[in-house]
Amino acid sequence: MVFAIIATLIPSLGLGLLSFRQNEAQISDNVTRELRTLTSDASREVELWIDKRAHEVRVSSTSSAVIDGLSAIARPQTKIRANSATKNPQALAHYLRSVQAKLDTLRELTVVDANGQVVASSGVTAATVTLPNEWPPNSLTEGLVIIPPHWDERYTTATLSIAVPVLSYDNLLMGALVAVLDLRTLQPHLKSPMKSPPGEVLLLDQEGRILVSSQIDADKLKQLDGPVLRRLQAQPGESLVFQGMTHREVIGLADVPENLPVTIVAERDRAEVYSTWVELRDMFLALVGALVIVVAAVAFQLGRSIVGPLQRLIGAADRIAGGDLEVRLTATRNDELGHLTQVFNQMADRLRHSHAEIMAANQAMQQQNQVLETLSITDSLTGLYNRSKLDAILSDELARFKRTHREFTLLMMDIDYFKTLNDTYGHITGDEILTAVARILIQSIRSIDYAARYGGDEFIIILVETSTDQALKTAERIRSQVENMRYSANDSIIAVTVSIGVVQCQSGDMTPTAVFARADSALYEAKHAGRNRAFCVS
Ligand code: GH3
Ligand code: MG
Repeated sequence: MVFAIIATLIPSLGLGLLSFRQNEAQISDNVTRELRTLTSDASREVELWIDKRAHEVRVSSTSSAVIDGLSAIARPQTKIRANSATKNPQALAHYLRSVQAKLDTLRELTVVDANGQVVASSGVTAATVTLPNEWPPNSLTEGLVIIPPHWDERYTTATLSIAVPVLSYDNLLMGALVAVLDLRTLQPHLKSPMKSPPGEVLLLDQEGRILVSSQIDADKLKQLDGPVLRRLQAQPGESLVFQGMTHREVIGLADVPENLPVTIVAERDRAEVYSTWVELRDMFLALVGALVIVVAAVAFQLGRSIVGPLQRLIGAADRIAGGDLEVRLTATRNDELGHLTQVFNQMADRLRHSHAEIMAANQAMQQQNQVLETLSITDSLTGLYNRSKLDAILSDELARFKRTHREFTLLMMDIDYFKTLNDTYGHITGDEILTAVARILIQSIRSIDYAARYGGDEFIIILVETSTDQALKTAERIRSQVENMRYSANDSIIAVTVSIGVVQCQSGDMTPTAVFARADSALYEAKHAGRNRAFCVS
């Protein structure tokens, strides 16, 4: 699932963000271009506006009213033309007021003499101005800015003062006509509502205060941060993002005209510029988020549908490895995992089947081994232990005796005149008599005792943890039972007797042979004493 999410996220986010980054750069370039157009257009418009105003002032400066008025006041000895309309300052002021009334760009029109002293003014508070010592050659045609644009408290507007020299009829400099221009009238020229690209244009003074703005309701008292202003002035034409004056965050750039100490700033709301871009980016991120959720859900579902059955298969394999062959899985699917589950079940079935066969074969083999073992220790005629088993039993009992000192007694018995019985009644009858005697032996001993056929008509009984007295009693009981036994064969009733030698184990008995030898001696004594008796040797 994590891989699926990463595989979805990296390419989509990578490509998307790359293209958004390029798009952002393109938008930034376009906006910068548009802002440059705004500032250069505004710069040109400001220049044209000032030229036009200068022209208007210049026209007034060449009027006879101004020339005559100034001549009369500045050079009273000069003869005034008879038809002059202006013969005193009041008349000149009147003329100036009438000109100002015609031109709404004018706030004040003042005539000063060559020293800058006010001669007449349309306003009431006109102050003395400082005129240049040497007027530049173009000042006649273009005027001269003598007070740079600034906020003028008297008129509660931003103003700019230009001066045009006033020459006498014989081209002598008499003074100047100073016009205080209302920069508010510049506002419609800063930006064309139809042709200009979007954005606001601001004319700032040297301190960064707004003088005129293309936005009519702009706060005139606002001021651009000093560091921002300096950065803008240092890189004219280069856009920056800063806290603007028309919006919280703006993209803006500046143009610094050569002839006017102002900064023209064009700025545009950054949020508005990037609004569509941000909208598209957010939509893209939402789409990527939705895609990631869908991919994660599909991957999770896929993972669960694969991992779940695999885990069940692994669990079942573990149980089989642990020996539980009764495992069976439910195969409900038709896909590869369903097939794998079916194959797994078949394998488990075969394993179960093979295991059952092996177990059955093993059991049969154990039974056969049991039979073989029984046969290997049993006398085939009588069913008693055979000679080799007797040797083993005796060895064990001797070892136990040495270890625990628990005594045991051995009875060796032999049928009396058995050869004669054989010869008289036949070998088969002899066998049947051997079997009948063996039966009596088995019935006469405890389950913890042993009875074996020693060979021919000889038998051995080992009585565990039995004293000689007890052994003699058992021997006597056996002897008596055999004696009382009647066996019928070939219309004859046969009577049999046995002689029994009894010995108790001794610490000197190192081997079974030693015990047998002593028992054989006891038996010999019983035979010698007349047979059908038990005899004990210590
Ligand atoms: P005694 O009283 O001194 O013991 O005399 P006896 O005749 O019994 O002499 P002995 O014990 O030496 O003879 C044993 C006979 O047992 C000899 C042999 O023919 C017979 N015999 C040995 N094994 C078998 C057998 O498996 N079946 C039969 N029917 N007879 C056997
Ligand atoms: Mg005998």
